[in-house]
Amino acid sequence: MSDQLMVQADGVHKAYGTNHVLKGVSLEVKRGEVVCVIGPSGSGKSTFLRCINNLERIEGGRILVDGEVIGYREHGSKLYELKPNEAAAQRRDIGMVFQRFNLFPHLSVVENITCAPQLVGKKRGRNATARALELLDRVGLADKANAYPGQLSGGQQQRVAIARALAMDPKLMLFDEPTSALDPELVGEVLEVMKELAQSGMTMVVVTHEIGFAREVGDSLVFMDGGVVVESGDPAEMIANPQHARTQEFLSRVR
Ligand code: ADP
Ligand code: MG
Repeated sequence: MSDQLMVQADGVHKAYGTNHVLKGVSLEVKRGEVVCVIGPSGSGKSTFLRCINNLERIEGGRILVDGEVIGYREHGSKLYELKPNEAAAQRRDIGMVFQRFNLFPHLSVVENITCAPQLVGKKRGRNATARALELLDRVGLADKANAYPGQLSGGQQQRVAIARALAMDPKLMLFDEPTSALDPELVGEVLEVMKELAQSGMTMVVVTHEIGFAREVGDSLVFMDGGVVVESGDPAEMIANPQHARTQEFLSRVR
């Protein structure tokens, strides 16, 4: 039933010049599901997330998000490539959280969260601020609304980045190694916020090396290597009993 699918990627190919990075990646994410993606550095995980978010043009295959073809619009039986403003509109429904939080250093926490919805006119003034405060409360930072990013720990900054992405009311959240740049003692607070978000029913694709998170929160686990999905399945089963030698080897290194 494709209307249950939030993400449907079929045979996605992406190259940078002669570097063929994605070699036919297929993946499905149902509504409300959390899919975790693991794999060695350079295997194409970030590239794949950027393709889902319409930040990259793909050379082959197809990606649908919530039934819409990413990068194209359908007209009759034909597909037309989106104009940049149309692509941006498509991206608005997808939240993305990066390894580096990329907060604006000269804006307060609450301003960092309200600036995006105000820019696109989704919410204005008091409305946007009230929503931002609500989201800050949700990520446990209600008391930091008027602080500046430089006054926060890395974990707190990443929680602000999550609140900022949520301010756009996304239907899908993509996380690209959201805890990899954090000191170990700050990882847990960010994973906890992500876990609560998952429990609230958000559809999420999470690239992470946090195997414990994948086991506990993930509905499925995908192992990518060399631009393909080598293995995917139930996280606990795959972690306990990986079928492919490459998956075994990778898991033995990150565990
Ligand atoms: P991962 O996130 O799994 O570490 P990436 O998707 O970042 O892998 O990178 C996969 C490959 O694509 C690497 O060989 C990388 O050098 C290349 N690559 C990624 N982004 C770009 C880019 N913007 N331009 C050129 N090559 C890129
Ligand atoms: Mg990456």
